[in-house]
Amino acid sequence: MESSKIFRIICQLFTIMLIVIVSSPLISLAFYTSPTNELNPPLNLHQDESVNKGISDVYIFNDDYSDDPPTNKPVYDLLTVAERQAKSLTTVLPAYQPYYGEKTVYLTFDDGPDPENTPIVLDLLKKHGIKATFFVTGTQAEKYPNLLKQIYQEGHAIGNHSYNHIYRDLYQSPHSYMAQLHQTDNVIKNIIGVRPNITRAPGGTVGSFNSRYWEFLKKEGYIEVGWNVSSGDASEARADDIFQNIVYQMNNTYLWSHAIVLMHDGRGHSETVKALPNIITYFKKHDFEFHVINLKTPSPW
Ligand SMILES: [Zn+2]
Repeated sequence: MESSKIFRIICQLFTIMLIVIVSSPLISLAFYTSPTNELNPPLNLHQDESVNKGISDVYIFNDDYSDDPPTNKPVYDLLTVAERQAKSLTTVLPAYQPYYGEKTVYLTFDDGPDPENTPIVLDLLKKHGIKATFFVTGTQAEKYPNLLKQIYQEGHAIGNHSYNHIYRDLYQSPHSYMAQLHQTDNVIKNIIGVRPNITRAPGGTVGSFNSRYWEFLKKEGYIEVGWNVSSGDASEARADDIFQNIVYQMNNTYLWSHAIVLMHDGRGHSETVKALPNIITYFKKHDFEFHVINLKTPSPW
């Protein structure tokens, strides 16, 4: 009797030891928080293989929003707002902890994709090994679906910049604004299989949004992303002015933790493309980390 009891105890001890040994790497993984570089990407719990063939640099929600998304990966949603509502899933995003680095820059490009400028921008980003964010319009994405795919596949973030960018259509009412976001979501999802939660209002929200616009965005889980560094790259600006505008604004040390730089890769912005190598070199020289806009990007101001 005694020997069988001892044997049982030994077996139990052995089992406990085995569990501890097997689970210790899992425990350390569970507590593992990645620094925000691409060498150690956080676990990607919602990555959908069918949508995401060969792409490891994005994070995709496919049900609720309760899992904590990474700080420096593009974040997308497998479902549109209408699909979420049809499945009685939440559309409201939780308040994620914003990420403030010591020196973090978000390069953003609006109004594309454009067949002349976007491929050069993508080449430059690739050459420098950095990621950026593209706020695209539905009309441009429809015209140039392969460029949208390329942006996605190369690990850059995509944001919703309305369907037609025409202020008098867009800002008639919160309903017309939301309708353009939905339309663009559908265009984007038809091309890359997922849609963004991040948006940028054409011309910015000041003077166009009232509180109802903000309410609608919140209710439907859209994050509106402004900027705090304007490249001033309107059609007449020259490459050197664009570069100097950015350098001048970066004297403000408040911006270093989350510099969100507004640029354009839409039609007619070849001077921005010309300025880009200097802009990238400037931020690299000053030891900035290049991040993509996602749900953890701090509000610009
Ligand atoms: Zn725009």
